[in-house]
Amino acid sequence: MNTIEKNMTAILITFFAFFTAGLYEEQKTNNNIEGNTFINPYVSELYYDYIKLIEDNNILIPQQDLILIDMSCTLPNSILAVAWGMYTDNTISVSVNLNTFSYLSDNQKRFLMYHELSHDIFNLEHYSCMIMTTPMPEIVSDEYLNLMINDLIYKLQRYGY
Ligand SMILES: [Zn+2]
Repeated sequence: MNTIEKNMTAILITFFAFFTAGLYEEQKTNNNIEGNTFINPYVSELYYDYIKLIEDNNILIPQQDLILIDMSCTLPNSILAVAWGMYTDNTISVSVNLNTFSYLSDNQKRFLMYHELSHDIFNLEHYSCMIMTTPMPEIVSDEYLNLMINDLIYKLQRYGY
């Protein structure tokens, strides 16, 4: 390595150290389940609301080794989000489409996150309950959202999945 390459390596290592230190802070503050937790702040409130809803209703969430909820700008506009961790019970991995998310109403955002997390955590298939409907309804009223959430809890408690 010449001097420039050595300097570049040193700079990259410094950057990496700062970057991982930042992630570690995130992990310490956001972690409520043992393991590694990285949640984009844009959707973290919806994530924790969902977890609280599930836990408050005494539904067991499998132990997670990795929780990764990120915003992606590379998903096609036709895909609002992807639950990569579906059928992998020790991993929650959801990518939310950054390009389309801001155009959704608050209730649609909640619908989307609860839908994806239900795919991911409980392996729920489409049409297994109201919130697993696809595509997402164009209008999600407060009443409809509450109905779908109650239906989800009922199905999880009754059938466990
Ligand atoms: Zn889906």
